[in-house]
Amino acid sequence: MLEQWKQVLNKMENEVTAVTYDLWVSTLKPVQYSNDELLLIAPSITAKNQVNQSAIMDKLTRIVREEFDKYAYVRVVDEKEYEENIRQQAKQEEKEDVGRACPFNKKYTFENFVVGKSNQVVFAAMQNVAEHPSQKFNPLFIYGGSGLGKTHLLHAVGNYLWENQPALNVLYVTCENFTNDYVDYLRNSKDKLKSEFRDKYRTADVLMIDDIQFISNRTGIQEEFFHTFNDLYQNNKQIIIASDRPPKEMSTLEDRLRSRFSMGLIQDIQEPDYETKVAIIKKKCSQEGYLVEPDVVDFIAQKVGTSVRDIEGLLSKIVFYASLLNKTHATMDDAHEALKDYGEPESTSLNADKIINTVCEFFKISKEDITGKKKNKEIVEPRQLCIYLINDMLNMPLVAIGDLFGGRDHTTIMHARDKVTKLIKTNPHTKTLVNDLKSRLLKC
Ligand code: ADP
Ligand code: MG
Repeated sequence: MLEQWKQVLNKMENEVTAVTYDLWVSTLKPVQYSNDELLLIAPSITAKNQVNQSAIMDKLTRIVREEFDKYAYVRVVDEKEYEENIRQQAKQEEKEDVGRACPFNKKYTFENFVVGKSNQVVFAAMQNVAEHPSQKFNPLFIYGGSGLGKTHLLHAVGNYLWENQPALNVLYVTCENFTNDYVDYLRNSKDKLKSEFRDKYRTADVLMIDDIQFISNRTGIQEEFFHTFNDLYQNNKQIIIASDRPPKEMSTLEDRLRSRFSMGLIQDIQEPDYETKVAIIKKKCSQEGYLVEPDVVDFIAQKVGTSVRDIEGLLSKIVFYASLLNKTHATMDDAHEALKDYGEPESTSLNADKIINTVCEFFKISKEDITGKKKNKEIVEPRQLCIYLINDMLNMPLVAIGDLFGGRDHTTIMHARDKVTKLIKTNPHTKTLVNDLKSRLLKC
């Protein structure tokens, strides 16, 4: 561009008076040539106005067209305008970036997923659905224990489609997101907000719902989900559902949904065997740039249960210890040190029933009382603790917890949870009590 601009200047020197050339034309700076537009900066508003007069501009445009392109045109701005332009452009780009931001976790890809005997069928099914949505397995229902990679695989489908079929509307929500959206929708009387809910879910080309085991059988949530499901299915849209148990073991699930889920493929993901665990640890190390001695890999694979989440937790703790001591490699000493306060890994089979039973045993009260209507202090306090623990340890949505406690409203559950959260911060007795109950539960 600069070479061409030099030619333009040479030619202009012969076309205008020496004063005009020296004062105005020679002071122009070319900054950009794109989409046939040559952008020039003038050092002042006066210079800009002078050049923009047709006596100069007509000549300039003619010569620029000779040197650049026959369709080229010239735009002259002063420095302030130029800076403002750049600012606006940056803002616009930022906005577009936000609009385009990928909603899926970048780490959760098919490439980063270690395939072994325990998960190869689920992996193949998910890959097939990502490559050919709405063709073979619809709906695809995957289930398995906590930390075995269900959420990872859902995001992998999302990431794959984001890259390969960006025009598709791929929606990932947890059951809790869906429930909250629906509760908001019921509360809102405005038609616009009402239609936003339906638009969000019914315009999806691929709908993924995670942790469906938390679906409540109250306030019409299953009914709404049923209609969403039917609508999408009839329009040949792909539905993928993840759960910690198969549909037949979801006691609160309505039969009509159970039969819908069974129309496609139901596939379980099992606990990884020793070799797969080792492969997962090695993969995490190379991904995160962790350096650990081979013994440590073996140690983690032996020590931790089957939840990959726990494996990751212990690995990063060991690496953290080593880094505190400025070591380049994590050794067995670090592993032992890290394990000291790691405690037993969270049991993958912890569930709401176990929490309720443990709390009842601890306070010597009955299950009927804790889930029932009694309002005396001896019952209310354990009930609130129980609600807190279920929400905290299982991440169970409030509406689903309400179901466990005699159909209480989710705002009541929220109140109980918030009360205990606050007490933990202000009352050392509550803090000790909660920690004690948690460690009992982790040993279950
Ligand atoms: P789930 O949804 O089944 O409870 P997640 O998908 O959240 O489990 O997995 C927990 C963690 O373990 C995530 O960080 C995930 O990347 C990792 N993970 C699980 N299975 C695998 C696997 N086979 N290969 C690599 N990472 C895995
Ligand atoms: Mg999950």
